[in-house]
Amino acid sequence: MPHRSDSRAAAVSRRAALAALGGGLASAAFPRHAAAAKTYPATWRFGDVTVTKVVDLTGPFDAARAFPGAPLGELDANADWLVPHFYDPAAKAILFSYHSYVVRTPKRTIVVDCGQGNDKTRGGPFANMRRGPYLQNFATAGFTPEQVDFVMCTHFHSDHTGWNTRLVDGRWVPTFPKARYLFNRAELAGVEKSLTGAVKQAYDDSLLPVIEAGRVDMIDGGYDFGHGVEIVPSPGHTPGHMSLAIASKGRRAILSGDIIHNPIEVLHPEWEVLFDQDKNAGRAQRQTFVDAHTDVDVTVFAAHFGGPTAGRIVSRKDGKRWFKTLVA
Ligand SMILES: [Zn+2]
Repeated sequence: MPHRSDSRAAAVSRRAALAALGGGLASAAFPRHAAAAKTYPATWRFGDVTVTKVVDLTGPFDAARAFPGAPLGELDANADWLVPHFYDPAAKAILFSYHSYVVRTPKRTIVVDCGQGNDKTRGGPFANMRRGPYLQNFATAGFTPEQVDFVMCTHFHSDHTGWNTRLVDGRWVPTFPKARYLFNRAELAGVEKSLTGAVKQAYDDSLLPVIEAGRVDMIDGGYDFGHGVEIVPSPGHTPGHMSLAIASKGRRAILSGDIIHNPIEVLHPEWEVLFDQDKNAGRAQRQTFVDAHTDVDVTVFAAHFGGPTAGRIVSRKDGKRWFKTLVA
């Protein structure tokens, strides 16, 4: 898989992606997306393991910016399965959800990805100084921050690390005070190579306070939680990107992070994606992932799919793939 060797170019690409994540999500011109924001019954069971979605926020993103140069007519041509949860044809916007998954084994409670967070200084109006109800949503889902044993961010873009910390009396403290935070060594090294601007801001408010609190365990991309739940490396979108694989009593699922951002990428994994820090590596990992998960008995949970969220990658008679949600 080709990797960009020019680290300065990678840093620029990373900053552009982060700026886009912070700055392109909110616009008064966009209508509300009630269908995408609707919360479905959000706990799924796989043998002895459950997966619960806890939403931080949802929002639109201009499709032409997300997929530079792509033939965007493909979104309209696949409206039958992309609308209303994943695409707004009137606004030409793809729809994002930012959420955590709380994974429970008989022994462990694991939080996967941490959304945008509250009170954070960010580049755009959508996430900047946000005051959202994530912690209430977390409680409504039946969990307390104190019961979380592990936190795993699939990668360190700021839309995945926000709720690593929260602001208490003017200080950033770990949101999950008893958890071990599993940091990927390559991912952290990538961030620490380019500590300027938005990257440094997110590092200072969402990563460094966890390190300084002594809550971090460094890993190299793999970690076995037992009961069929394990972290597997999936580099591409970022250098230390990780996914979480579940296999319990014959039931399988994969929490894929940002290998795929919108279901159209199941049909077109070859499209360039703005958010991929390394465009070629991201595309290669996406292609591999889609090939490996088509027409197999594995439920896919992507980091940004809203609405019913969970689904399968399925091929039609003509060989083209689509994402079939579990309530489709
Ligand atoms: Zn993301």
